[in-house]
This record gives sequence, structure tokens and C-alpha cells, in this order.
Amino acid sequence: MAGKGNYFDAIVIGSGISGGWAAKELCEKGLKTLVLERGRSVEHKKDYPTMLSNPWEMPRRNRISLADKLENPVVNRCYAYQEDTKHFFVKDKEHPYQQEKPFDWIRGYQVGGKSLIWARQTQRWSKYDFEAPGRDGFAVDWPIRYDDIAPWYSYVERFVGISGNYDGVETLPDGEFLPAWEMNCVEKVIRERILEAYNDRYVMIGRCAHLTQPAEHHLKMGRGQCMARNQCYRGCPFGAYFSSNSATLPAAAATGNLTLRPDAVVHSIIYDDTKEKVTGVRVVDAETKEVIEYFAKVVFLNASALNSNLILLNSTSNRFPNGLGNDSGLLGKYVAFHNYRGNVSASFEGYEDKYYFGRRPTAVMMPNFRNVHKQETDFLRGYMSFYTAGRGGWGSFKDLPFGPDFKEKNSEPGPWHVFMMMQGETIPKENNHVRLSANDVDAWGVPQLVISIDYDDNDEKVIKDFLAQGSEMLETAGCKNINAYDTQQAPGLDIHEMGGVRMGRDPKISLLNGWNQMHHCKNVFVTDGACMTSTGSQNPSITYMALTARAVDYAVKGLKKGDF
Ligand SMILES: Cc1cc2nc3c(=O)[nH]c(=O)nc-3n(C[C@H](O)[C@H](O)[C@H](O)COP(=O)(O)OP(=O)(O)OC[C@H]3O[C@@H](n4cnc5c(N)ncnc54)[C@H](O)[C@@H]3O)c2cc1C
Repeated sequence: MAGKGNYFDAIVIGSGISGGWAAKELCEKGLKTLVLERGRSVEHKKDYPTMLSNPWEMPRRNRISLADKLENPVVNRCYAYQEDTKHFFVKDKEHPYQQEKPFDWIRGYQVGGKSLIWARQTQRWSKYDFEAPGRDGFAVDWPIRYDDIAPWYSYVERFVGISGNYDGVETLPDGEFLPAWEMNCVEKVIRERILEAYNDRYVMIGRCAHLTQPAEHHLKMGRGQCMARNQCYRGCPFGAYFSSNSATLPAAAATGNLTLRPDAVVHSIIYDDTKEKVTGVRVVDAETKEVIEYFAKVVFLNASALNSNLILLNSTSNRFPNGLGNDSGLLGKYVAFHNYRGNVSASFEGYEDKYYFGRRPTAVMMPNFRNVHKQETDFLRGYMSFYTAGRGGWGSFKDLPFGPDFKEKNSEPGPWHVFMMMQGETIPKENNHVRLSANDVDAWGVPQLVISIDYDDNDEKVIKDFLAQGSEMLETAGCKNINAYDTQQAPGLDIHEMGGVRMGRDPKISLLNGWNQMHHCKNVFVTDGACMTSTGSQNPSITYMALTARAVDYAVKGLKKGDF
């Protein structure tokens, strides 16, 4: 069905972190914009049913039932999937995919996407990250460098509200920061001892998308100060952490240019062989299964990395029989992710007269220190490390009989524990890929995605190095009972999948140019994780936001000049 109301200047597919940004920027630049979202409507505050619930109000004290665990083994492996958050996560059976190799695909299908359930850690890439593939000879050279994106990082950081400290470290450039969170006393001691012992490492407080001191423009939008409740995954009634629902979508709506269409499952993008361009998007209504077509001059694809691959692979025409823009045959290939397998835990003696305030929504972090200036190890690239120190023991004396003794013992915090984890870069490879199932479709007639992604020897070496270095650093810092372990978790659980529609200069070996524009289909832009040429070791979403704002600026200028 293609009615009169189905024509827009721009269409954005997906309303999550990157789609929200595309919508805001397109609307603010005056384009009548349709956002197509496969999931249900979620309105800020109104649709956060557990945002103010107390622990005792949740069934099973917030623990997931055994039946749910058995029914949904994949999503149950995600630490943030609990009774109070589960309505924002995709259930395994409702949206099947095929794991050629184990891959935990964690998704949030609703207005706002995973922006409601992300952990909000935000670090800029450095110049070394953009130079890495070209310098070290893997994947393909990025068509942009740090200086191309730096002003756009600043632009999005000011709007989002990022808390952080000005550390002046080249490997993790500073941004536009609100006041930083504070390290606690044990984290500070560990930091000092690591800095003393290693001259190639830096330790800093995490940077995250929380309003520690809202600016005027945040307050005007109804966003307020973070209360350090750490109930973020339920949706924040204060709008204190950044989500599409609290920030970008309201900004887009305020222009009067936004049409938001939930329950609209994008089946494919329509390429007109005669006009030699994309004219619109084909949608299946999630409820009625009616097929509807919407038309626009430009399409932004922001369905999240693997879903954007799926939609392009499913968008075939005479000109593009193997998927939209896929002359290179590389669509769906060179997918990568972050390696989270290394953990180190320890104890720390003393400081038992000290405590800390609130539930800080970030950790202490250390930028990658491996292979930064040149190749130095027997593996490519490296990892960021994060650690926290906290006091255990609250409520751990469960077996005492009720009475004053029970109360006293359980109201004292226990000794200090330290936890460290890695976030490793992985190397994009042709065989780590996604493709469409030849036989199986989902409930909306869209082919299921086959995911074929695995770790390699490089990842094993990176894990070994982190476990050795992490243990050594914590020992040097005075920790005891150090336990380094490999979680063996499958790819996907990092929830940082990237690539498949990579950027590059040469159309023969990449899908997108330096503006996230399809080489062979100029009115389509892909600005979510699918565009990533390599993964870096930073949390990725702030980079998707910056790339999106930059791409919209370019697209709108191009549209005005009549380029496409
Ligand atoms: C528990 C958790 C912790 C995380 N922590 C961090 C972190 O600390 N820092 C960080 O940088 N990142 C983090 N992430 C990852 C972050 O959430 C993603 O990188 C980010 O949301 C990606 O943005 P996106 O716009 O590409 O996708 P999403 O936010 O997932 O949005 C995609 C949207 O597209 C919609 N969609 C999909 N297919 C279709 C279709 N066919 N038709 C119409 N709509 C469609 C989806 O329903 C969804 O709303 C975390 C994620 C989770 C779940």
C-alpha cells in the first residue's frame, strides 16, 4: 500500500542510539522525517513500569524465573536482563536467528532500541585507532581520521551530557565534559600504585552519558541530575542518562518534522532500477502484517549493526541481486566485536573504616597500552581495562536466626573486593560473517539471519596477555587472593557487534565512503555499528552518534545541492 501520506524527505530505519540521532539532526535541518521502528511505542517515563519500584515489590526479589531461563537461554546470559528490565529485551523465541557458531545476539526492539538498556560508557577513539588497520595491515584503511570526527564528538557530547575528567591522554582523548564521578579510596590507591610502577599506562575515572551537572539545555528538555541510583536499565524518570526516548526523539519531535511509526518491521529498501536510486522502504506492519511502502529522497539505516546487514542483504533488485550496494560481494563480511573474556578478581586489605557514596554508574578505566605506537607483541592491537573496588558482605549472613544479631551483622559492609575486566579489540575477518537463511523466515516473512562469528588465535593471545597483565597490576597495587579467569563467553554477549557494511575509500573493498554513504547507492547512509571498519577497544556508541551527526550534515548539504 502506498498512500498519499507515505512521502517524506527522509526515512530513518530504527529509533535506537544512532537512529535517534539521525532523526534529531534531519528534523532540525528542516527535513520531514519518518522514523520506522519495528518495536512497540515506549514513551519516556510513561512506559517505564518499574522505574520507581522497590526491591521487595519485584517478583522473586528481581530474579528471573527458572521457566524464563529455560525458555530464553540467550538473553538470560545478559547481566542486565532481570525481572525489572526484561520488558526491554528481545525474547529468544519471538525473534529467531541461526547460530552457525555460538553467538549471543542481545537485542532491544522498541522505540529507543538499546538506548534504554545500554551501560552508557562513552570514550572517544584516538588517532591511533583510526590509523591501526592501515598501519598494521588488517581489514581496510579507514577513510577518515580522528580530526575528521573530533568536532562531531564535541557536538554530540554537549547534547548528550558526558561526565568525565580532563586527563590529557592521547590514547583516550578528552571531550566536552560535565563533572567527573569520583574514585573511591581503594580505587585511588590502586591507581597511584599502577602509575608508579608502569610508565606506559594511565588510569582514569570512566566517562559516561550521565548528567552529573545538567546544563541549561538539558534542564529545558526536562532532563535532570543523576541520583546515582543505578536503576538505569529500568528507564530513568529524571532523564539523567542519555536515551533516544529522553533526548534525541523529543528534540526531533519538537521541530514538528518528525513522524514516528512504531510496529513497522522494515522488510527491505526499495531500489528503482530505472531511476537508479533508492526511492523508499518496504515495511510489514508488526500487528496486521500488512505490507506498506514509504518513500523519501534519502534513507538512513540505523537498525543496529547486524539488522542493518540483514535489511541490506534482503534488499535485492535487478541492479543489486546480492543485496543493496553489494557490488564488492563483501556485504555481511568482516564483522567483528569486543572480546570480554578476561576477568580478574581480588581482595584488598584495610580501609575498613571507609565507604563511598551512592551507586556510581561507571568504573575506573585504563586505555589500551599495547601496540599503540608500533607493533610490539605477537598479537595485533590490544584492550582497554576497567576496574572497580567495593565493599562486600552486606546481607551475606543469611543463615543466622532473625533477631538483633542478624540485623547487626547484616548491616555492616564486609572487606574490599576488586574486579577487573578487559574490553579487547578483535580483528575483522572475511569468514566472520552474517548471511540470510535460504529457507527460514521470521513471523513477518523476513529471512532469518545466519550468524557465523568466532574468536581466533589473536583473541586467545590477547586474553592471555590481559590475564597476566591484570594479575600483575593488581598484585603490584597490593591486592591479595588474585583470581584470573577466562569466562569463555560466546561472541555477541559483549553487545558491541560491528561491521559487515564497512567504510573505506575503495568501492571494490568497502561498501560505504568516508561519509557513511553507500558507494553505489548515493541516497543511502548507514551510520550504526555496521559501518565500522575496525572495532577499537573503546565502547562504541558515542562513535556511532558522532558519525551519524556528521553524515546527516553531509547528506542534507548534498540534498540541497541536488547531488542525489
Ligand atoms: C546491557 C547493555 C550494555 C551496553 N553498554 C554499552 C556501553 O556502556 N557503551 C556503549 O557504547 N554501548 C553499550 N551497549 C551497546 C549499545 O546499546 C549499542 O551500541 C547501541 O544501542 C547501538 O545503537 P543502534 O542505533 O545501532 O542500535 P539500537 O540502539 O539497538 O537500535 C536499533 C533499533 O532498530 C530497530 N530495528 C531493528 N530492525 C528493524 C527493522 N527491520 N525494521 C525497523 N526497525 C528495526 C530496533 O528495534 C531498535 O529499536 C550496551 C548494550 C547493552 C544491551
